[in-house]
Amino acid sequence: MADNRRQVPSVERVLAGLRANGHAQLPESLATEAARTVLARVRAKAAGGGGVPSLEELVEAARAEARERARPSLRRVINATGVILQTNLGRSPLSERAIGAMVEAAAGYSNLEFDLESGVRGSRHDHVRAMIRRATGAEDGMVVNNNAAALYMALQVFARGREVIISRGQAVEIGGGFRIPDVLRQSGAILTEVGTTNRTYSRDYEAAWTDTTAAILRVHTSNFRVTGFTAEAPLAELAAAAHRLGGLLIDDIGSGCLIDTVRYGMAHEPTVQESLAAGADLVLFSGDKLLGGPQCGIIVGRAELVDRLRSHPLARALRVDKLTIAALNATLRAYCEGTEATEIPVWRMLGSDLAGIKRRARKWAAAAGEFGAAIPSRSMAGGGSLPGEGVATWCAAVRAAHPEDIAAALRRCEPAIAGRVEDGCFLLDPRAVEREDDAYVAARLRQAIHGEI
Ligand SMILES: *Cc1c(COP(=O)(O)O)cnc(C)c1O
Repeated sequence: MADNRRQVPSVERVLAGLRANGHAQLPESLATEAARTVLARVRAKAAGGGGVPSLEELVEAARAEARERARPSLRRVINATGVILQTNLGRSPLSERAIGAMVEAAAGYSNLEFDLESGVRGSRHDHVRAMIRRATGAEDGMVVNNNAAALYMALQVFARGREVIISRGQAVEIGGGFRIPDVLRQSGAILTEVGTTNRTYSRDYEAAWTDTTAAILRVHTSNFRVTGFTAEAPLAELAAAAHRLGGLLIDDIGSGCLIDTVRYGMAHEPTVQESLAAGADLVLFSGDKLLGGPQCGIIVGRAELVDRLRSHPLARALRVDKLTIAALNATLRAYCEGTEATEIPVWRMLGSDLAGIKRRARKWAAAAGEFGAAIPSRSMAGGGSLPGEGVATWCAAVRAAHPEDIAAALRRCEPAIAGRVEDGCFLLDPRAVEREDDAYVAARLRQAIHGEI
């Protein structure tokens, strides 16, 4: 096959073309990057005998490439997937109050680490400490970057070089390749797995305990459910065993649920308060799952333990910024004031009334004409909470020979719209979509079906 690479013009010629076409305002580095990318693509094809486009076409392609690269990488997505805490879409949206607090903290200076009364240095931890205590009832609490960091830190500080006992059924992968046993090993703790995948009793933990064991770790298997012939030791039993043996019970509950999910027609999700009441010494959870706040990891529990964590050098390495502190504080305030059901988007979405969702799904489906119908389905909490559960919902379903094409077209919109393909249909769930986006979604769906996007 002929090698046509000699016909590919130089980067300089394409750049000159870009400048001649009045695109001198393109930053030089961006123009060069774009020209190089386009030419590399053409060269690869030309090596196998592919034709080489004209210089004008290459300049145009480089211009399009530069435009694409100049767009912000992080873009808005309308979440019609039916998964409310969709990790890939950024988990929980924040409340108005949390957004306001972040904007204010971002715009100027604050007393982040400054005691306004005495004029001396203060601690950033103080801004959330009282609020965490009030919202969870814990003796004390602190915040780090995420729950993985919380787990890493708790194990590193309290179990480095010592054993930590975990049930085989809980040595799980949480998602995105994040595996509990890997974090455990990274922390310097020594993993002792006990029991079997489906059944572990407290006597298994007690039998594995040695002089150098530091703790029992309980991990909420948040993204799957073992059903059938299963047994998990009750938390209170594990806590009692750990204490009798002179160690700690560390409970990674994943989602920081503070309220009773049964009120929302869902299965029961373990709460922070229950875990503390059962005797856990430290309870770890994410800020951006069912808590509905910013990305962070929250550690609550016995005051002396939390105090040791707070004064450990790792607390500095894993500390959160002022925006997170502002947003978390505002989010926790809603729980303290009892306004979470209406104020926090995650709970508002999970609590949306079914009749309203059905009406919206019908309207969207109508935009798809003869191909559309509203169908009953289930929305998922996602983000490692309430596995296999979810709440009843209605979706706009579009029958199509190639539902993936509709999905792809809607992803190209700005803002993009994310749905899901199921049983050969393309589905859009209104539950996690704000009402003000309804008309936009319907209009884009109509265009996508007619191949206009
Ligand atoms: C989600 C989850 C984590 C990880 O939390 P991040 O905040 O994403 O770091 C850890 N443990 C459990 C049980 C989880 O569900």
